[in-house]
Amino acid sequence: MKIAIFSDIHANLEALEAVLADAESQGCDSYICLGDVVGYNADPAACLERVRAMGCPVVKGNHDQDCGHDTSLEMMNPIAAEALRWTRAQLNPEQRRWLARLRMVRQVQDFTIVHSTLDQPDSWNYVTNKFDAMANFSYQVTPVCFYGHTHVPRVFVRGSRVQEVPAESIALEPESKYFINTGAVGQPRDGDWRASYCIYNYDAQMINFRRIEYDIQTAQEKIRAAGLPESLAERIAEGR
Ligand code: ZN
Repeated sequence: MKIAIFSDIHANLEALEAVLADAESQGCDSYICLGDVVGYNADPAACLERVRAMGCPVVKGNHDQDCGHDTSLEMMNPIAAEALRWTRAQLNPEQRRWLARLRMVRQVQDFTIVHSTLDQPDSWNYVTNKFDAMANFSYQVTPVCFYGHTHVPRVFVRGSRVQEVPAESIALEPESKYFINTGAVGQPRDGDWRASYCIYNYDAQMINFRRIEYDIQTAQEKIRAAGLPESLAERIAEGR
């Protein structure tokens, strides 16, 4: 079994389609989505329907939560809030209900998936260093957990101590626990504009990180045509 695990699509259909095409060419036979299907970019309904039609496990991201419910956007940064207001208007009530009903944490096979972190998943904290990862590990009962939310690929390992290792190919060791961020499909923030996702070769117990080029010009044109903030078009080209 080869599982494509992807997160933070953020309504970027061009990036999503490129990732799914790559996953198919790599022989993936299962798919998992770590949330934030919508928000920021111009194709929320199309991305939602594409993911939903796959029938794969999906967990809820904070943008999914904010689009699924009529939560107040006052505390949010103004650009994200503007995009969320626009996104809510693009989705029909049934699509918003689908987002609202997504679960925060799921177990798949013998691993866990969550959007932010297992300690208080609804607080949407960002795991960016080993100290944040330690808090997560104390709630992680499976050997491997995949997460998203930060839009930066990262790997934390708990053996005799917790450390961060480069987000490259990893051979999973049975004695260790892993907390793995797949990076973002639709809005990477590590300085590399290409879509990021992971392939989990389950039989070989190997994780491979993938970076995929996509038609970014079209994605940017759609953002501008939708009247979304210009900075959203610029940031996907800069990977920030
Ligand atoms: Zn996100």
